[in-house]
Amino acid sequence: MKNKFIPNSIACLFALFCAFLVSTQAATPRKLLVVTVTKGFRHSSIPTAEKILGELGQKSGAFTVEYVRNDQEMAEKMTSTALKQYDGFIFANTTGILPLPDKEAFLSEIKSGKAFIGMHSASDTFHGQDAIDPYIEMLGGEFQTHHAQVRVDCLNQDRNHPATRHLDATFTVFDEIYLFKNFHRDQVHGLLTLNAHPNEKTPGDYPVAWCKMYGQGRVFYTSLGHREDIWDPGWADKNGNRENAREVSEAYQKHILGGIKWALGLEKGDANPQAK
Ligand SMILES: [Zn+2]
Repeated sequence: MKNKFIPNSIACLFALFCAFLVSTQAATPRKLLVVTVTKGFRHSSIPTAEKILGELGQKSGAFTVEYVRNDQEMAEKMTSTALKQYDGFIFANTTGILPLPDKEAFLSEIKSGKAFIGMHSASDTFHGQDAIDPYIEMLGGEFQTHHAQVRVDCLNQDRNHPATRHLDATFTVFDEIYLFKNFHRDQVHGLLTLNAHPNEKTPGDYPVAWCKMYGQGRVFYTSLGHREDIWDPGWADKNGNRENAREVSEAYQKHILGGIKWALGLEKGDANPQAK
């Protein structure tokens, strides 16, 4: 009887120890690099975006952020060696041809199984060149143009995905709405879309947010995020000019937090294209 009891209790302790190891590992926040360098248009919402991304990491405990705000920080923190210490990369309203030390190494790093998250003008980055840039292929779409800011009803394409499951069938938001080129429905998993042109209201498919695989890496992109009052529910209290109610920016924050957690592999969600 005694002989049987001892190995059982040892096995039990060992199992508890393993569970403890797994739970500590899961609780370790992931490391994200938030890039806000611009070589084209510079959005006034960038400081707000940086602040909100830091807060989302802290409040959720899911990730910590480091910032790349200028060319020098990009040269230091984004070399092929330096990239290896991060679990993923957020391009928040970047624009233009960024001076990445080694773009090929950057894309391979994502392909190897890391997270890439892009907001708004992340699709206006490495854009407008003769050939489709490999960065655009990774992202899944390229900014073409936009018209006046407008209120749109985004259709929720996936009620189970971490980035959109908190939203109803439609998400109504006031922002600068992008039109895309080099976007292929059969290569992305749609999350938010419009069934009409944002300004002219002619019927069509106008993507707003999506996710996709890039090798082993996960890519989440949302074209929303031009305005400060989308990023920050409190912004309009100080600055006036409110077009989005607090609940809209709170929903936007859940949208990007869900997208980030999904891209980091912390929460599950479908990445298969709905269109074949
Ligand atoms: Zn914009």
